[in-house]
Formats: sequence, C-alpha cells, structure tokens
Amino acid sequence: MDPVWLLILLPLAAVGGWFMAVYDQDGKRTRKEIPEAYFKGLNLILNEEPDEALRLFLKLVEVDSDTVEMHLALGNLFRRQGEVERATRIHYHLFRRTDLEQGLRSLALFELAQDYFRAGLYDRAEEHFLVLRKIKNYTKRANGFLFQIYEQEREWEKAIKVALQLNSEQNEESSKTIAHLYCELAEGFIGAGANHKAENCIQSAFKHDSRCLRAVIQSGRLESMRGNHVNAIAIWRGIEYWHPDAIGEVVEHVCNSYRVMGDLRGMRVFLESALDKSPDPRIINALVELTNEKDGRDAGQKLFVDLVRKFPSIESLHQLIRSNSQLASGRQNRDYSTLAELLSQVTQSVKSYYCKQCGFQSQSLHWQCPGCKGWGTVQQYQYPSVPINQDNADLPI
Ligand SMILES: [Zn+2]
Repeated sequence: MDPVWLLILLPLAAVGGWFMAVYDQDGKRTRKEIPEAYFKGLNLILNEEPDEALRLFLKLVEVDSDTVEMHLALGNLFRRQGEVERATRIHYHLFRRTDLEQGLRSLALFELAQDYFRAGLYDRAEEHFLVLRKIKNYTKRANGFLFQIYEQEREWEKAIKVALQLNSEQNEESSKTIAHLYCELAEGFIGAGANHKAENCIQSAFKHDSRCLRAVIQSGRLESMRGNHVNAIAIWRGIEYWHPDAIGEVVEHVCNSYRVMGDLRGMRVFLESALDKSPDPRIINALVELTNEKDGRDAGQKLFVDLVRKFPSIESLHQLIRSNSQLASGRQNRDYSTLAELLSQVTQSVKSYYCKQCGFQSQSLHWQCPGCKGWGTVQQYQYPSVPINQDNADLPI
C-alpha cells in the first residue's frame, strides 16, 4: 500500500476506534465529542505534514485525558507500519504523564518498550521489560520479549533463566529450546578451554532433552579432546540409533578417532553400518577413501561406482567425476575436468538442509534457523535410499 495512504488511514482508524468508545450500541453519546483539534491533525496528515500533525496530537494528550486510548492506538498503528520513531514519541509522552492512571501508565510503558525493541535499542527495551515483568499482567509477555533480546544478544545464561520461567509448564518444544541454549553456553566454554563447565552445561542440556543431537556431538568432542577416543566413538555412535538420519554430521569426528587409535577395521565397520542408516555422501566418500588406502585405487574406484549407482546424488557424482579426471589423461582428462567444473557449480547451489518449520534452505546445518529462529528445526534432506534399477543404471564411466 502507498505510504501516503497509510498515513491517512492510521489516524482515521484511531479516530474510528475512539468514536466507537464514545458512542454506545444505540448510538447514544457516552463521552464528550471528538475534539476539533483532531480534525485539524487529520487535515495536516492529509496535507502530508505528519510531523506537524504528530506535534499537535502530542500537545492534545497533555490536556485531554479522555484521549489516552486513542493515542495508544495511534502509536501502535505507527509502530506496525514501521514508523517506530513516531510511535516512540507518542508512547514516551504518555508514559511521562504522572497524572495517568497506573494501569494506563503500565500499558504506555509496555508499548514504549516494544518501540525500543522494534528499533533495535535492546538496552532500553530490556530496562523497561525488566520493570514490566514485575507487574502481574505483563510478566509472561515481558519475559517473552526479554528472551528474544537475550537470544539476539547471545546472552545465553540470561536467556536460560527467562526460558526456564516461561517453560514452567514443561512444554516439550520449549525443553528442546532450553537444551540448545545450554549447548550454546557449552560451546563458549569449549572455546575457552573450560571443559568442566562445558560438561556441566551438556549434562543440563540432556536433563531437558535426553536425545539432544547437539549435546551428543559436543559430549563426544569433549571425550576425544581428553584422549578418550573409545568413549567418544561410543557416544557418537549413539546417533545411529537416536538420530540415524543425522549420522553424517559426525562421520569426520568418528573417523578421526578411529585413525588416532589406528583401528581402520573398526572404522570400516562403522562406515558400513552408518551407510545402512543414511546414504550421506560424506559416508560414501570416507568409505571410498578408506578402500583406496587399504585395498588400492582400483578397488576404491569400483566401490565408488557401485555406491553412486546404489545411492545417486549430485554430490557423489561430482566426487566420482573429479576422481576420474585425476586418473584420465589427454582429451579424456579435459572432458572430465569440464564436467567436474560444471557439476561443481551445480553442487554449490544445492541446498542440503531445510527448516521443517518455515522451509528456510541452506547448505550447512544451523542449530537455530536463521529464518524463523526455531531451535533444532533445520534438518538434512533425505538422500534416495532405494537402489535404482540396475538395467537403467549404466553410467558412462
Ligand atoms: Zn525456520
């Protein structure tokens, strides 16, 4: 809609709301008439002088206590249309009025806090929401905004405290969110080398979500950092049972630990088992690499072709052609290289992950969806797991 029309409709809607409040259902007047100055204000807006109109409205609210609701409505409408500065001026003016009834002052403060929140002035918004949450009718709503502020500012300890208050009814979705917040905190401690504190956070995450994928991955990381690779592998391999579709997320970790222990046989058993759960290209690549190492390049190449036939994906096909280009020479090498380059462009545009809540797509795993801000809502697209018909599967390789 044209912004000029919005400016005209905003105060008209506000005056309309006021009119409804002034007249009862039978059309009888219950309060005094709309002050003439409001029509002057409307005229100024129609003449595209919104700031002059706003000055007039603000002056009116100082002298006319019957129009507080109308100003609140006008301020809200300004904010909804993105006119945050004008909304703030109205709500600030109302809040400053010491003669205002306490309920209306709290309402003005709540609206003002939302203006600051919308403008990204989180310090001021936080200050007001902290006051508001002590007022019974505003506690839950103020905590909801405080949670968003702390989440935005990555103040995880404060976010957890607020989330625990909001989750007093033990909602399952909120419990999963709290587990993720503890994981965020744990990640910070891991980065700072405070492994004991990280361990405590991970345990807290498990208390809220006993199958939290991220906490499992972190827990295994801590064990491997301590050199306890057997434990680390056992923890990570739990994902095969609890989150089989996500086993690809730890393939690199698990393979590293097997390599540190020199247990390549165990690594192959793991990779074959993981492939049964999810034909993730990362598993296929690791298995082929291991076969190259142990059984020679021909065996690795044969396995690769078999696996691409069985579980076709654009990423695996790209890997296969790249691998062939390294083996080929002359014109064949040039052809493979061109094909690999083209497929590389295609794979760069392939989105492997999506949010089950809002549909946001990405190439990497986000623990918090950048689209809808949901925690743990992003997951990997499933690769085809049904082998394609061998008669029609002849690849030109
Ligand atoms: Zn989302």
